[in-house]
Amino acid sequence: MTALQFAVFGHPIGHSLSPRIHQAFARQCGIELEYRAVDVTAENFESVVRGFFEGGGRGANVTSPHKAAAFGLADERSAASTRVGTANVLSRAAAGRLAAHNTDGDGFMRDLAERQGIDVHGQDTLLLGAGGAARGVAWHLLDAGVRTLTIVNRSPAAAAALSDAIDEPAEVHVCCWDELSTRGSYDLIVNATSAGLLGATLPLPLSLAGPGTACYDLSYGEAAGGFLRWASSAGVRYACDGLGMLLETAADAFALWHGRRPDTDELYRALRAQAA
Ligand code: NDP
Repeated sequence: MTALQFAVFGHPIGHSLSPRIHQAFARQCGIELEYRAVDVTAENFESVVRGFFEGGGRGANVTSPHKAAAFGLADERSAASTRVGTANVLSRAAAGRLAAHNTDGDGFMRDLAERQGIDVHGQDTLLLGAGGAARGVAWHLLDAGVRTLTIVNRSPAAAAALSDAIDEPAEVHVCCWDELSTRGSYDLIVNATSAGLLGATLPLPLSLAGPGTACYDLSYGEAAGGFLRWASSAGVRYACDGLGMLLETAADAFALWHGRRPDTDELYRALRAQAA
């Protein structure tokens, strides 16, 4: 019998830990599956994903830069993906239909609050980026009670579009990169850009952070290195990458596909120990 087929689609994708994580979850739950990483450009995304599901694929994770496209090609959309307009999980539904879901926000908050112990309530928060991942976490930060959410993005129009979609003008503000040096410091800075993944450095003034600031980079591994080094040189209280978020979002996708949520703590410790 052929093993159940799963994949993650992104560009680039070589850094992805998703195949390893899903195989470890599968071993934990006694399930046999195949999970591969597929590098696909924006122009080929739809045809490659449709081909994967037509060929028997059961489920897919979708990462940068395809989350909005994944949402667009689905036939059915969960409430979580509809609210943010992006999807990081696609599943085969009845009659060959594709269902979209987004686990980014829940996974982010579970790691941030429960594993890293960061209480965002009442915090002035700076969100770097306005792409798929930023959309995935922005509403959850507001739900969790941040005092203000300032969104800054390289293309100002995307930041304005995200702010308009959230439609909470008392709490949500937009600002330009050039203005950051005049903004003072924030309690929490969340990097949701793909700059590190693409080998670019973010121009961040040290004045954004102080001894009370917590920094969280959604990227993990080498991609998070630049932002975490900046945080360290700014003398922040706490800084971490998105490895824990990746595990939590993966566990939610796994539960959606297999009806059982695996434990994430042991794998988190093992991956952290390897990275040290
Ligand atoms: P998208 O491609 O949808 O968005 C990329 C964002 O990064 C945009 O806001 C873009 O700005 C910005 N950006 C790209 N390059 C630069 C640069 N050189 N300088 C400043 N801004 C830049 O990607 P995603 O939102 O899906 O993913 C973003 C990152 O988050 C990735 O590294 C991804 O791996 C990580 N991630 C991690 C998760 C986890 O579970 N740990 C989950 C989701 C994402 P512009 O609009 O101007 O192009």
